[in-house]
Amino acid sequence: MADKRDYYEVLGVPKTATEDELKRAYRTLAKKYHPDMNPGDKEAEAKFKELNEAYAVLSDAEKRSKYDQYGHDAFDPSKGGVGFDPSDFDFGDILSSIFGGGFGGFGGFGGFGGGSERRQNAPRRGGDISQSVLIGFEDAAFGCKREISYGRVVKCGDCGGTGAEKGTSPETCQTCRGTGQVTSTQRTPFGMMQTTHVCDACGGTGKIIKNPCRNCRGHGYIKITRKLEVSIPAGIDNGQRIALRGEGDEGRNGGAAGDLIITVGVKSHPTFERDGYDLYCEVPVTFAEATLGAKIKVPTLTDPVEYDMPEGTETGTRFQLRGRGIQNVNNPNRKGDLYFTVNIEVPRNLNSQQKKLLSDFADACGENNYAKRKKFRRLFDR
Ligand SMILES: [Zn+2]
Ligand SMILES: [Zn+2]
Repeated sequence: MADKRDYYEVLGVPKTATEDELKRAYRTLAKKYHPDMNPGDKEAEAKFKELNEAYAVLSDAEKRSKYDQYGHDAFDPSKGGVGFDPSDFDFGDILSSIFGGGFGGFGGFGGFGGGSERRQNAPRRGGDISQSVLIGFEDAAFGCKREISYGRVVKCGDCGGTGAEKGTSPETCQTCRGTGQVTSTQRTPFGMMQTTHVCDACGGTGKIIKNPCRNCRGHGYIKITRKLEVSIPAGIDNGQRIALRGEGDEGRNGGAAGDLIITVGVKSHPTFERDGYDLYCEVPVTFAEATLGAKIKVPTLTDPVEYDMPEGTETGTRFQLRGRGIQNVNNPNRKGDLYFTVNIEVPRNLNSQQKKLLSDFADACGENNYAKRKKFRRLFDR
């Protein structure tokens, strides 16, 4: 699972959405992603779950206001939240009201959020953690290392994740006999109805902890600050992400650890602009250099290179230096190009001698030295 998406984003509604708007958005999307409509489609199933979770929270005024205030942390026990499990929510009810019974029975609904997945003691993957780093333009071009520090949920070392104080161990819950669920049977006008709930006595874990571990207060998991040196590959661009598999929160009940996802910000450069792997810059030249041609110095990310600018180069002409751009992040043998534009700088603050020389030069020039001007003048010099 990637980062938890914003619930409003999941439903595609603004934060100001009314109850009705939420319901409409949910109805539309639920029909689209419902497992019955997308048999065997894992992505649709995941979307459907995400959707259910978002609606379960936002359709409940109290939960919605908590979510508005604290975001996902509101329901994350490791961050002091209340530990809301969306699978406790009765979606069957919402869906039946939404599909109006015309959906053809709810036999298929056991499939989502049901089965072993709704039990607290089933293996659960650890959460992904998002971090960001800001690096220099050259660091991005050539690669660099950065130490980052972040909070990560890990198994408590004192109790080994059981949540029970050292020397004790959790006991099997008598109410649910360790299954984490209780089933009750009711007689209704339509026959016997069986419903399964998360066990109240143990909160669905199947275990009762009499002496909670002092280090983790019985949670079995604690949040620690972790320092990690991250290698940022050469060629990375602003806004790109690096995923470090298994460096996120540790999983529970044998589940895999989540990922650490680092978004890289790249500072701008005083000389170069970057587009993909190509670099762009401007090189000011004199009128004389452009007119006579010259060897000009062009900056690169390493040493400047000399470039033979031809005689009669127009201002604004763009030249290309192959392979002088940035290394491709996926292939070190491929590099972008460097494009530079020459701009003639008009000289200022001339003294009288300089002015005289230039004026003499102008007088020495004939109209054949300025082809464009000549053509232009003909338009009205009649
Ligand atoms: Zn502990
Ligand atoms: Zn129980």
